[in-house]
Amino acid sequence: MNSAPLSHLIHGRPQPPASGRYLDVYEPATGVVFAQCPDGNAADVDAAVRAAQAAAAGWAHTPVEQRSQLLRRLANAVDAQLDVLARLESRDSGKPLALARSLDIPRAAANLRFFAAASEAWASEAHPMAVGAINYTVHQPLGVVGCISPWNLPLYLFTWKIAPALAAGNTVVAKPSELTPCSAALLGELSIEVGFPPGVLNIVHGRGASVGQALVEHPAVKAISFTGSTATGARIAATAAPQFKKISLELGGKNPAIVFADADLNDANLDTLVRSGFANQGEICLCGSRLLVQRSIYASFRERYLARVQALRVGDPEAAGSDLGALVSRTHRDKVLGCIEQARAEGGRVLCGGHALQLPGRCAAGWFVAPTVIEGLPSAASTNQQEIFGPVVSLIPFEDEAEALAIANDSAYGLAASLWTRDLSRAHRLAAQLEFGIVWINCWMLRDLRTPFGGIKQSGLGREGGSEALRFFTEPKNICIRY
Ligand code: NAD
Repeated sequence: MNSAPLSHLIHGRPQPPASGRYLDVYEPATGVVFAQCPDGNAADVDAAVRAAQAAAAGWAHTPVEQRSQLLRRLANAVDAQLDVLARLESRDSGKPLALARSLDIPRAAANLRFFAAASEAWASEAHPMAVGAINYTVHQPLGVVGCISPWNLPLYLFTWKIAPALAAGNTVVAKPSELTPCSAALLGELSIEVGFPPGVLNIVHGRGASVGQALVEHPAVKAISFTGSTATGARIAATAAPQFKKISLELGGKNPAIVFADADLNDANLDTLVRSGFANQGEICLCGSRLLVQRSIYASFRERYLARVQALRVGDPEAAGSDLGALVSRTHRDKVLGCIEQARAEGGRVLCGGHALQLPGRCAAGWFVAPTVIEGLPSAASTNQQEIFGPVVSLIPFEDEAEALAIANDSAYGLAASLWTRDLSRAHRLAAQLEFGIVWINCWMLRDLRTPFGGIKQSGLGREGGSEALRFFTEPKNICIRY
């Protein structure tokens, strides 16, 4: 275990929890406690909000170039701590160290740099009127905003929220997941080292029901940017509504990958399809957990796909060759195993995996699940409707374009879809009709940070990314001057 417990960051200083209590943070790969994080409460949230309020006017009036400069310094500090942050992220979440090094931490730095540049480039609009007047619009920061993030991509999603909030001139009270608090805690320390004024970025650790809820309820918090489950999103919406608080909700998904007979199924594309189901143990909201395959190629595709899935190496996240690590918690591992049992009970055939894995050595008590592929279930089956958020993919054959579209859209969720075809007309036709916020054609998780990110239906409300995020974290004010 790390020697010192983590602290909140309030008004630029490490603070112990008001309650004096701490939560154990487990290393999923070993099942052993490796850190302790504050079990925060409403008093901690209130102290952080007061600190953020005190810093709000000064930060809002700091020239955007200076704010951006601080964000770039923080990005440089993240780069300099790549190894330390990647190791923390891997130990905290169970993800392969190589993935944390190549994806999570570099992307956190990229988020900070991107919004530093985007806020500098964001211009106001002005509209001259024939009567001799000019209307212009300024985008003013909201004041204190709350950012609540999940455990699956901890620093990646934490920075995806705080970067635009800070760049736009707000002060922030942020709450990382209590399951994976370590990288955010270190980022908080780095923010003070690089010169962020006290109170501009505050971090309160703890459980959702206490810290998260108090942050959403606090009347001085003007907006909540949330990424997490649909159930929590619904609760946040209900709590925020009476205060007319702005909310941005990035929620669950049950994403389809649709493979047509004419798709270019070369090795690289097959690898991407496997990655789209199993990257980060399937614990990415964008993972395709419903794999729709045209019936004319179903048998041959299944053979090639299964061979690849069976070759995935589940192992110690710190080992260089591990493709998949451990699931984030015992509870989540058991939930995923329960979903697999339910798939069997509803008549699904488990083609590979379907069980927990016990690894040798230091990982003997870790929370590992074998990559699992299931077939034989109709679209209405709960396996094809519920978000599992683990290494489980359901294969579903379809006859033609109309059936593919009907199955893909047969979901309460609408986050992301991927479409695999060489027919350009079909690609455009389907992209227009798929009820998802993001459609990838012959690729997956290829992100340009300038583009809107988010889902429809029960996958969320609002969009992140590029100017969408800057709009969310500001209030447009129209000013008309007659001359
Ligand atoms: P979760 O909803 O349990 O928790 C997310 C965060 O909200 C945590 O910090 C948690 O402590 C906090 N929280 C919990 N209850 C709260 C409450 N009542 N008020 C305020 N905050 C509260 O989700 P999770 O299990 O951490 O994350 C997994 C989920 O996140 C999956 O459903 C996944 O699809 C979703 N997700 C979505 C996206 C996206 O961009 N759409 C990205 C990543 C993860």
